[in-house]
Amino acid sequence: MFERFHLYFLIGVCAVSTLCLSGCRARAPAEENPSWTPQPTPTATIRPLQLVPTGSTSLSIGKRLRFSVSGGIPPYSFASTSGSVGATGEFQAPYHTDLVTVTVTDSRGAQTQTLVSIVAGSLLLPNDPMFSLQSALSREGDQDIDAPEAWALHQDCRSILVAVLDSGIDTEHPDLAANLWTNPEESYADGVDGDGNGFADDSHGWNFVGDNNDIMDENLHGTHVAGIIGAVGNNGIGVSGVCWRASLAAVKFLDADGVGTSSDAVDAIDYAIGIGAKVINASFGGNTYNQAVKDALDRANSAGILFVSAAGNETSDNDTIAYYPGNYDSPNIVTVAATTETDSLASYSNYGVTQVDLAAPGSNVLSTFPTVATPEMVSRDKTSNYERLNGTSMAAPLVAGAAALVWSFEPALTHLQVRARLLERADPVTALEGKISGARRLNLRKAIYVP
Ligand code: CA
Ligand code: CA
Ligand code: CA
Repeated sequence: MFERFHLYFLIGVCAVSTLCLSGCRARAPAEENPSWTPQPTPTATIRPLQLVPTGSTSLSIGKRLRFSVSGGIPPYSFASTSGSVGATGEFQAPYHTDLVTVTVTDSRGAQTQTLVSIVAGSLLLPNDPMFSLQSALSREGDQDIDAPEAWALHQDCRSILVAVLDSGIDTEHPDLAANLWTNPEESYADGVDGDGNGFADDSHGWNFVGDNNDIMDENLHGTHVAGIIGAVGNNGIGVSGVCWRASLAAVKFLDADGVGTSSDAVDAIDYAIGIGAKVINASFGGNTYNQAVKDALDRANSAGILFVSAAGNETSDNDTIAYYPGNYDSPNIVTVAATTETDSLASYSNYGVTQVDLAAPGSNVLSTFPTVATPEMVSRDKTSNYERLNGTSMAAPLVAGAAALVWSFEPALTHLQVRARLLERADPVTALEGKISGARRLNLRKAIYVP
């Protein structure tokens, strides 16, 4: 045993030594001294090949599971009957239920297998104390978007940056702070534009009203919209967003009165493109066509951004009276009408069989409010950090959150595929027939998964 080790050691040194550049092998002790002649390799004991999952083999669809391999003779290769396994043994479950055989093969061709059961789950309820009041997400009677059914499969949207083009976001809100996007290049408020995007210290977004990095919501609208998309879910506090975990960028261009300019809207869209947003929520609008906004929307489309816009609250037909940005004909726009808690078109909601693409609950939507009372809150006599609002402004962020959830679940989808998912897999609603294209209301679970 010692002899073999010694020989191996010398050859090993020889291979890397600069002193052995030539004639090295000829001088090796084994060849000079017959007593060093290598012995035939004894038959080594090769441990049986084993494939061991590092978690449960009952795996939710689309999720990942790592396998560790021991025994046999590496290198190993992996295969599966459905889903995929990378070179390091990370198994990606398919997006449908299945019984999958995962196989590992070693360098000699020896194989072993194990079964993984891909399941869809039924419900996952968050522990947020006000969740039972969030009728848009789930309610008895099912005039909702089936959020708990979707959460059984996926809750974390952090990989999809959502730009909230609105009045800012209350960065101090305990149900929002953890879900704000943080610009990795702007970790210090040092007046330096760390990422060179033209905006110094834009750590969570930008304020195009004041042209500064103060994104605090001076109205209430943006904070409410942000909470619908991504109030922290299952944290034992307040409400849950569509996304339990999210990356929300506050792109503020609406002032304390909720009013903004088209030129700031253009800058806000371009800013969202620059920071790599994948979804823009646009709970605002007006009746005037603006070519610069249209051009910005087309740039967003070229950047692969889905743009979710509110249909408007004028009870009017957008096919007759144009309402922008929803009516721009860019392919990346989803225009959203509002339904009531009984699945009728909300009385205030705009509609349009050509111009409006989808409906989502917009009435009595409970979400986050600023933690410090704004003049708008005072004027409405509101003091709580959680309030209900009505409007297509509340319906749109349900769809924006849904887009982020679907996309983070299936990252290979394009923005137009995500859009098609949301529209085609929504629930048919009789009351929407003749009112909006497709006559459907968002269904989060189906958008993620249809058996
Ligand atoms: Ca339901
Ligand atoms: Ca910057
Ligand atoms: Ca919460």
